[in-house]
Amino acid sequence: MQTLNIVLADEAATVAFGQQLAQACERQTTIYLHGDLGAGKTTFCRGFIRALGHQGNVKSPTYTLVEPYELPPWQVYHFDLYRLADPEELEFMGIRDYFTPDAICLVEWPEKGTGLLPAPDLDIELRYVDQHRQVEVTANNGYGMALLKKLEQS
Ligand code: ADP
Ligand code: MG
Repeated sequence: MQTLNIVLADEAATVAFGQQLAQACERQTTIYLHGDLGAGKTTFCRGFIRALGHQGNVKSPTYTLVEPYELPPWQVYHFDLYRLADPEELEFMGIRDYFTPDAICLVEWPEKGTGLLPAPDLDIELRYVDQHRQVEVTANNGYGMALLKKLEQS
């Protein structure tokens, strides 16, 4: 396991960080996003999803749990499990069907779906530091390490 710590000075830095990571992905990818409300998880997702070609809004799918984006060659699924009452709801929505070979899954509040979500390649933890944010990226496998390495170089 390996980690990378970066200070994100402002919202634009969080967006740019999402963008860099999106551009580094080269196969099916699962990223868990941890952090309090307002820490910047959705801001990160906005940078990530726009970098892959989406031009509209990106907002947390708080009520629908997941928002799909068809961004060839990727299917991006943005999950927000904050309001998930029971992990079994994930079974009902056919959670396994989302993790296809062309899928990039960004998951806010993955803690709510423990046991039913696939393991992440990367864990991203966002924390408040004064008016800024600190991000800690943890790689959980070889592919995650390769992503970390690319982030370090960019
Ligand atoms: P979450 O999805 O974690 O609840 P959001 O991304 O919806 O958080 O909101 C994050 C808030 O913090 C937004 O108001 C955004 O402008 C701000 N923000 C994002 N990144 C930073 C940063 N690096 N420094 C300061 N403010 C930030
Ligand atoms: Mg959010």
